[in-house]
Amino acid sequence: MNPTPPILIANWKMNLTVDEGHRFVSGLTAAMDVPATWVGIAPMAVAMDACIKAAAGSGIKIGAQNCHWEISGAYTGELSASILKEMGAGFALVGHSERRSLFLENSQEVAKRALGAVKAGLTAAFCIGETLQERESGTTLSILKEQLTPLLSLLGSADRDKIVLAYEPVWAIGTGVVATLDQIEETHSAIAAWLLTEHGWHSPSILYGGSVKPDNYAAILSLPSVHGALVGGASLKLESFLELLNISEHQAKDNGTPQLKLSVG
Ligand code: PEP
Repeated sequence: MNPTPPILIANWKMNLTVDEGHRFVSGLTAAMDVPATWVGIAPMAVAMDACIKAAAGSGIKIGAQNCHWEISGAYTGELSASILKEMGAGFALVGHSERRSLFLENSQEVAKRALGAVKAGLTAAFCIGETLQERESGTTLSILKEQLTPLLSLLGSADRDKIVLAYEPVWAIGTGVVATLDQIEETHSAIAAWLLTEHGWHSPSILYGGSVKPDNYAAILSLPSVHGALVGGASLKLESFLELLNISEHQAKDNGTPQLKLSVG
């Protein structure tokens, strides 16, 4: 059992309108007391303000799906981390595999985005993960190390607690193919061991992401080196997100009484 509260982050990607997002977050806050779980929701940028308003006072953090490292400038289409902070965001995802593969963001750039988030006072959820081909050729760990190395050289050790790592095997994202418990535990513990021995980073928070659903989450979250989840598909429906949160609250309370109220508002 992990000593820190579990972390549960929803990545809505380019889904849910402003209205739908507002209704989702309002429903979520109505269905729960302030959770023991660190709950984050990353809507589309245009829906963030409505979600931030709906989340006020609930303990739920609303975050961005990406951010830029500069405060302002000639970066058409980008979002400055400082403006996100100013509007009330709590975190930003960086380095999601869709950003890496579809928009060609490299690890150096992703590290700068993470640093921009941290400097602005946001938590950065830093995504890493290997492709199927990389896993099958036995290079998973070296790929993950490559993805992390620029971050480690830019980030001061005092800022490590502002980073949450998310291990998301690319082949498990949105595919319905979840990594096995052995694969998850082996990979998370190898990353943690490398960060500790080579970089002196004690106890990083590492989330798993990739086809997490209510029926597989309890087993994943019970793994010793898993600290929570980054969830796409199963975060789009309030009912399934509440189920994930309920699982997380059970773990946070060491199988005690769940925090959620009985009715979904
Ligand atoms: C994701 O988008 O980060 C993700 C993990 O998606 P899914 O849960 O749908 O696999």
